[in-house]
Formats: sequence, C-alpha cells, structure tokens
Amino acid sequence: MTDCLFCQIAAGQIPAKVAAESDDALAFYDIAPQAPVHVLVIPKAHFDSVNEVTRAHPGVFEDLMRLAQEVADLEGIKDSGYRLVINVGHDGQQTVSHLHIHVLGGRQMTWPPG
Ligand code: AMP
Ligand code: ZN
Repeated sequence: MTDCLFCQIAAGQIPAKVAAESDDALAFYDIAPQAPVHVLVIPKAHFDSVNEVTRAHPGVFEDLMRLAQEVADLEGIKDSGYRLVINVGHDGQQTVSHLHIHVLGGRQMTWPPG
C-alpha cells in the first residue's frame, strides 16, 4: 500500500533505524519511545491489523514473534523481561493501520496498562 507509513518504511522509502530484519518482517525503533527499549516489529506485507491475518496467511504471526524474540535478545532484555503489545483498532488505540508489535523493555512495566 503506497500511502501506508509502515509499508513505506518496509520499502526503504521513509527512513527508520532498523533493529533487526528477517525475510518477511522488519524491526525498527519507535520514533516516540515509551521505554528505554521500544522497537516496532512489522510484517513487510501489509495487514491493517491483527484482524486481517487469517488462516490464508500461515506463518505471519510466527515470523513476527520470532523477530520480536530476536530483538529482545539483541537489546539485552530477554532475561530481565519485556512487554509485547499489539494495539488493535479504535478502542485498542491503534494509530498506524499496519500491523505491528511493540517490544517494550529496559524498565519495570506496570499493570494494568492504561
Ligand atoms: P500504535 O499506536 O499501536 O498504532 O503505534 C504506532 C507507533 O508508531 C507509535 O508508538 C508511534 O510512536 C510510532 N511511529 C509513528 N511514526 C513512526 C515513524 N515514522 N518511525 C517510527 N515509529 C513511528
Ligand atoms: Zn502498510
């Protein structure tokens, strides 16, 4: 999708600081970090949200989770712990309509989230 911000980042048309990459997913640093480590993991293919990933797209969630694990390892938060967040739709306060996982860590998280 040419008008999608994260598609443009995946295509290298908009710059982002890349943290890690796999064949089908990209991890880059969030522009407004909410924790010492705040990385976004996206599929290179466009999905509006979690809701659009169906059985017709095997491996998408697997790819994302594998890269999130790798980011946690590379960022040194694998053992101290971290939080994976996926906001979905309006009530989930999703602001960018391209599926992404937030990898947040490097500080003590609180619960419940806001
Ligand atoms: P969400 O609110 O879950 O849709 O998350 C969108 C995230 O994208 C927010 O944390 C933003 O700070 C982040 N973001 C928006 N634009 C950019 C950008 N150009 N590069 C990196 N992160 C971005
Ligand atoms: Zn997109």
